[in-house]
Amino acid sequence: MHEISVMSQLIKAILEKLKDYDFTEVREVEISVGELAFLAEDQLKFAFEVLSENTVLNGAELNIKISKSTVSCESCGYEGPLNVEDDPKYHIAFPIFACPKCNSPVEVIKGRECEVTNVRLAIEEGGKEK
Ligand SMILES: [Zn+2]
Repeated sequence: MHEISVMSQLIKAILEKLKDYDFTEVREVEISVGELAFLAEDQLKFAFEVLSENTVLNGAELNIKISKSTVSCESCGYEGPLNVEDDPKYHIAFPIFACPKCNSPVEVIKGRECEVTNVRLAIEEGGKEK
């Protein structure tokens, strides 16, 4: 399952960043997923739950935002979103996307990213709690 490996990398990155902070609890993790990344929300949530177990992220809420894509076509000059159905044929490592106007292969400018956009921490006043 693709989502597990993506989430595993995200969690690693978050945990790395959190080392610099003093906090008692992670309340919420917000991630932004491009629509061309084809990551299923429920699978991401499941992966987060499984992978965050035994880490400081355990119990945090995962908030997923899907961001629109932008593609650019050299053949006809189209630049804009790609309306893709969640088709299994796209669930491969490097799918080729076709221009909605002229059907030529397009360059994906935006829409494949999967990144952490926000992490909300609970900070206990009066110092560290471990
Ligand atoms: Zn085109």
